[in-house]
Amino acid sequence: MSSLAHAKRVVIKLGTGVLTSGIGDLDTDQINTLCKQVIELRSRGIEVVLVSSGAIGLGMGKLNLEERPENLAQLQACASVGQSILINTWQNGFDPHGTTVAQILLTREDLRSRNRHNAIFNTVECLLKSGAIPIVNENDSVSAAEIKFGDNDTLSALVASVVSADMLLILSNIPGLIDRRGSGDVIHKVETITPDIEAMADGTTEATSVGGMTSKITAAKIACRAGCEVVIGSGKDELFFAKLLSKKAIGTHFLANPEPIMPHKRWIAIQDSTDGTLTVNDSTAESIVQSNSNLLIADITNTDGNFSKNSIVSICKNNGSIIAQGQVELNSLAVKNNPLKDKVLVHRDNLVLM
Ligand code: GLU
Repeated sequence: MSSLAHAKRVVIKLGTGVLTSGIGDLDTDQINTLCKQVIELRSRGIEVVLVSSGAIGLGMGKLNLEERPENLAQLQACASVGQSILINTWQNGFDPHGTTVAQILLTREDLRSRNRHNAIFNTVECLLKSGAIPIVNENDSVSAAEIKFGDNDTLSALVASVVSADMLLILSNIPGLIDRRGSGDVIHKVETITPDIEAMADGTTEATSVGGMTSKITAAKIACRAGCEVVIGSGKDELFFAKLLSKKAIGTHFLANPEPIMPHKRWIAIQDSTDGTLTVNDSTAESIVQSNSNLLIADITNTDGNFSKNSIVSICKNNGSIIAQGQVELNSLAVKNNPLKDKVLVHRDNLVLM
């Protein structure tokens, strides 16, 4: 198992439960301790990007709401009130260390275009070089329901993929993934996320939390595919970072995929919806999966959806199972009418197996 000490770039996700001691009550001692720990990591040459929840919880407190609102506009209002309190609190925590924080608020839409994806990467690079701490949250006050990341676990994994982090720490108030089929203890090491591991995940019922273990496992899958190790653990444990640094067993450690998706293909892999579907026969499917071949117009047995040039589409077999996602070089009309059947429609460099 590798340790945090060998990581170069780490994304740390902090859940609302870690940062607050009740609805709307920021735990400033806890935040100050986390700031010290982040500074300690940086002094070891480890770059740190934070993904901080808490905006909605803090807004709920400020607006005197005891229950998490179900109405989207109310949730967005809470986030809008709470986000400024959140970022100010982080800045206050880092002030004694002479460190500046930088706020980055993202929506799902921001990751749909390659240009914006690259812009996020470049901004984070620049901030890290200048010594600032990027603090990311979902731009909840403008995210519409259907395009939300949904929870900051997923967001943190996507951020880890975008910035090519080698480690993602998902910290909440739980100690890790509990072995529900056996000992009832924390599972310390997961080599592959199997259906059994997924079945051990559980939802959450806390007023300010969103994801629970299910979303943490989903996040771990995204990050591990991008070559990033993931540790799920308790942000309330003061020894968490020290133990990780000294390779002691703490939390649940998910190993990175040994054959990670290449950085230039990751933005294709993280799209959770596509603009169309290309169907191929079984032998074409096999040569895509086994030999990483280009997809030609002649290979397509059916085209669904109206997509544009450079859209992301799903590639599936006749039985409907999705084998890959890729970026097309022609729009859907041009695919149907193109007489050049040997023209490459999806180049292997823009194709990711699913
Ligand atoms: N973006 C939400 C907030 O700042 C948090 C979502 C989550 O906790 O996963 O409150």
